[in-house]
Amino acid sequence: MTEPVFRRLALIGIGLIGSSVARIAGERGDLAGEVVANARSQATLDRVMELGIADRVELDPAKAVAGADCVMLCAPVGTYEALAQAIAPHLAPGCVLTDVGSTKQSVIRDVGPHVPAGVHFVPGHPLAGTEYSGPDAGFTTLFQGRWTLLTPPPGTDAGAVEKVAELWRRCGSMIEVMEPGHHDRVLAIVSHLPHLLAFTICGTADALEDESRQQVLKFAASGFRDFTRIAASDPVMWRDIFLNNREALLEMLQRFTEDAQAMARAVRWGDPEYIEHRIQQGRAIRKSLIELKQA
Ligand code: NAP
Repeated sequence: MTEPVFRRLALIGIGLIGSSVARIAGERGDLAGEVVANARSQATLDRVMELGIADRVELDPAKAVAGADCVMLCAPVGTYEALAQAIAPHLAPGCVLTDVGSTKQSVIRDVGPHVPAGVHFVPGHPLAGTEYSGPDAGFTTLFQGRWTLLTPPPGTDAGAVEKVAELWRRCGSMIEVMEPGHHDRVLAIVSHLPHLLAFTICGTADALEDESRQQVLKFAASGFRDFTRIAASDPVMWRDIFLNNREALLEMLQRFTEDAQAMARAVRWGDPEYIEHRIQQGRAIRKSLIELKQA
C-alpha cells in the first residue's frame, strides 16, 4: 500500500465534511496512519466511536492536536479564532494546519496570527457538500470529481501545500491554488448568494397568509422545492459564512438586485427580447456545467 500522507490527522469538528474525510481515511488507509476526532459535544464523539470512523476521540482540542502532523479545522468558520487560540501552543513543530472553511480571507485573518513558527498553515476549501450535517451525514464519495481550492499565504512551504493537495487528491478532488480574496468573490456568487436567496425566498413564502402558504407546500414541485433543499442547510454554518464574507456577498447581492430590477422592468413594460435573452443565458450556464461534469 502507498505510504499515508500523514502519520496522525486530527479533525477539529467532525460533521458532514470532517466525517467524510474520516471515512475516506478509514476506507483507503493512505490518508493518515491514525485519525483523531474532536467536536464541541461528547454526544457527537460518542456517535463517532459508534460509527467507528476515527481511531480516537478527544473532547479537548488541545489534546486532540498533540502529536498530530496534520490538523484540519472542520468546524463552522466563526469558531476558528477561539479554536486557533486553544490549539496553537499544542501544535507539534513541522505540523501542517489546514481547514475546510467556506470563507478564506476571514480564516487567514482569524487563524493566521496564532500559527506558531515552524507550523505550516495551508487554508483549503473543498467545494462539495449537501444540506445535511453531523457525523452521520458524511460519505466517502463526497469529494469525488469536485474541486478543492487551496489559498496558502505567500511564502508557505511548498512541501506542506503539496501534502494537503495530495490528501485531497486521494479523496477524489481536483486541486486549484487561488488567492484568498479571489476565492471569496467567486464563492460569493456560486454559493453564498444562492444560499442567501434560498433562505430569503423560503422566508417570503412562510410570511404569506395561511391559505397561500399551504398552497406553496402543496404545489412546491413547480420550482420552490429546489430552493427548499438549499434552505435546509445548517443555520450556524451559514450565519458564519455570511458574516465572514460580508463584503463580497454584499457586492454580489447589489449586482443581483440591479439585474433583478432590470428583469422586473422588462416584465412591467413588456420587453420579450430582454426576458428571453436572460433565460437563454441561464440555459447556457446550465449546459456548460453539464459539459464540465459539475452539474
Ligand atoms: P457540520 O456537519 O455542522 O459539523 C460541524 C462540526 O463542528 C460538528 O462536529 C461540531 O460539533 C463541530 N463544532 C462546532 N463548534 C465547535 C467548536 N467550537 N469546537 C470544536 N468543534 C466544533 O458542519 P460541516 O457541514 O461539516 O461544515 C464544517 C466546515 O466545512 C464549515 O466551516 C463549513 O463552512 C465548511 N464547508 C461546508 C460545506 C457544506 O456544504 N456543508 C462544504 C464545504 C465546506 P458538535 O457536533 O459537537 O456540535
